Amino acid sequence: MSAPHLARLNDDQRRAVEFGITAPGDGPLLVIAGAGSGKTNTLAHRVAHLIVNGADPRRILLMTFSRRAAGEMARRVERIAANVLGDKAAAMTDALAWSGTFHGIGARLLRDYAPSIGLDPAFTIHDREDSADLMNLVRHDLALSAKSSRFPAKGTCLAIYSRIVNATMPIEEALRDVFPWCAMWKDELTALFAAYVETKQAQNVLDYDDLLLYWAALMGEAEIAADLAGRFDHVLVDEYQDTNRLQASILIALKPEGAGLTVVGDDAQAIYSFRAATVRNILDFPQSFTRPATLVTLERNYRSTAPILAASNAVIARASERFAKTLWTERQSGGRPRLVTVRDEAGQALYIVDAILEARERGVPLKEQSVLFRASHHSGPLEVELTRRNIPFVKFGGLKFLDAAHVKDVLALLRLAENPRDRVAGFRVLMLLPGIGPATAGRLLGAMASAADPLAEIAAFTPPARAAEDWPGFAALLGAMRTRAAGWPGELEGIRAWYQPYLEQVHEDAAVRMADLAQLEQIAAGYASRERFLTELTLDPPAAVSDESGVPYKDEDYLILSTIHSAKGQEWRQVFVLNVVDGCIPSDLGTGTSSEIEEERRLLYVAMTRAKDDLHLVVPQRFYVTQQGRGGDRHLYASRTRFIPEAITGLFETTTWPRMASAGASAATPPVAPVDLKARMRGMWR
Ligand code: ATP
Ligand code: MG
Repeated sequence: MSAPHLARLNDDQRRAVEFGITAPGDGPLLVIAGAGSGKTNTLAHRVAHLIVNGADPRRILLMTFSRRAAGEMARRVERIAANVLGDKAAAMTDALAWSGTFHGIGARLLRDYAPSIGLDPAFTIHDREDSADLMNLVRHDLALSAKSSRFPAKGTCLAIYSRIVNATMPIEEALRDVFPWCAMWKDELTALFAAYVETKQAQNVLDYDDLLLYWAALMGEAEIAADLAGRFDHVLVDEYQDTNRLQASILIALKPEGAGLTVVGDDAQAIYSFRAATVRNILDFPQSFTRPATLVTLERNYRSTAPILAASNAVIARASERFAKTLWTERQSGGRPRLVTVRDEAGQALYIVDAILEARERGVPLKEQSVLFRASHHSGPLEVELTRRNIPFVKFGGLKFLDAAHVKDVLALLRLAENPRDRVAGFRVLMLLPGIGPATAGRLLGAMASAADPLAEIAAFTPPARAAEDWPGFAALLGAMRTRAAGWPGELEGIRAWYQPYLEQVHEDAAVRMADLAQLEQIAAGYASRERFLTELTLDPPAAVSDESGVPYKDEDYLILSTIHSAKGQEWRQVFVLNVVDGCIPSDLGTGTSSEIEEERRLLYVAMTRAKDDLHLVVPQRFYVTQQGRGGDRHLYASRTRFIPEAITGLFETTTWPRMASAGASAATPPVAPVDLKARMRGMWR
């Protein structure tokens, strides 16, 4: 029996793809295997195989790590299915409507089912920064920050809250295990979180965690749970090692028997435990469903050359805990990965730019190369050098386009129109108006919170004299947005006209900021409605781009800069990893617990296994650290990461850059006459 779309798979991959479709099998399926072994590829083949064999694509739920990954998966599925279905594959893949992140899918389901759990479907979604701001407002209302200057900061409060929700653990446990230095505030934090939850409900806003929490709540209502479970015949999850307890509980509720459920993952790549992800989900998987689970392992790596794989395996082999896995490759050619010592971060940038350009000369496009780093700000010196040398790049996982103040202002205005009770958005917008301070804003928002028609309160409000002139224009704008008078995305034009004068009053670079807003309008045009735009942008913001002039041209070749966390699942021909030094990877010098340190080891493993042909780990001898709240910035004399001990350096080609002349060589060259500095400088002042 020939199956042209499965021709490229190896036996283990094919077993996972055919399981329960064209081969026997009925329980849950777990594929666990190392980096580059084709897990994601297998998942794509399985979806294509389902479609080719008559499954309804609208009844397939596919969950990936990012929306971008979901898009890539859909393209792969289409290519694979086209082997059998030809032109019809595209339409079938378009019908794969339920693919995206857990949070994105949660948001969509909640819009449908909101009323049945007492939620208004017009809710707006807070990103982490908005959530921290709301936490701060509540903290302020309860006078907690006034109580003691040592009360945890808003970000810490949010982190504790988020941990409790995602790990479904009691507050005592979260404080004891993860935030011991906050344990003394248990009662205050309990009160704070209760008030935070109430406030969100009153304002009809959801934070990221709520998207999972309410989804889990939906699954707790027997009728809705049955409805939802019946909606999807097949549920597939990529990167399962980075899901948390709440996500696992949702899957179990969706597919209690486990039939039709496929998850793939690699415990050695678990790097999200700081967001309460847990490898226990993989360990517990076989016992979680009423039917027995089937385990498939994949051992052949198709991505990397043998020397890269050997070095990566050596780094992870020293991990204290992991499933034993074998990984081999047939790609025997290629040199050892480089371990390059440079003087400092400026030297690091120069080394990388040279190597990138050299590779491009050899025919490796920029798009096939990437630079990875532990934290977003580490790429600063490199970005400067790339800009100076006119090398276009796109940066993922860093400061987002949406974090710019002016972009946030416009989004807040849209959110306020969508949900006038959204207090964080309201504050942001009102404070833009000259003459309106926090007290006035608070008073108006308070009145709006209890009003039947909150926007009518704005129209009827008598502002302080200084704001009187601007007020009617503002009220009219919001009124028009509320009735959707200008339609979507037409209303953005009105917003721009209203906002421009404020921008020009406050900022010298107003023109640059207006260009950003024009770009925002372009992005907005790609969404069917204001609500879809706000939801998807908040959940999966676009990457920051190389310069203020905008995204690289459509067909332009550009380099990828990315945090390691955002590089998950991807691959490039040539990969550079920045700052492979103690204090960076692992990041916490000495203060980290052993399990935190182990997570850093996995992070390095993830970074190294992104490379297909060439891998460079760069070790600056001097490294600049920003120590938030610990006495400012300082230079650090760095040493190579502890994850590459002397015993395994033989797996690397160790070099120093720029190559220093060795003592022997300089003895052999004839002495050079010292330069006559005086003579040279005389010329300079003439
Ligand atoms: P990661 O753990 O990093 O997410 P993965 O296990 O998901 O990796 P994939 O990204 O699916 O691995 O595959 C890695 C590379 O190997 C891809 O370029 C893919 O096209 C290729 N590949 C996978 N399976 C095969 C195969 N049977 N034949 C040829 N190439 C393959
Ligand atoms: Mg993958």
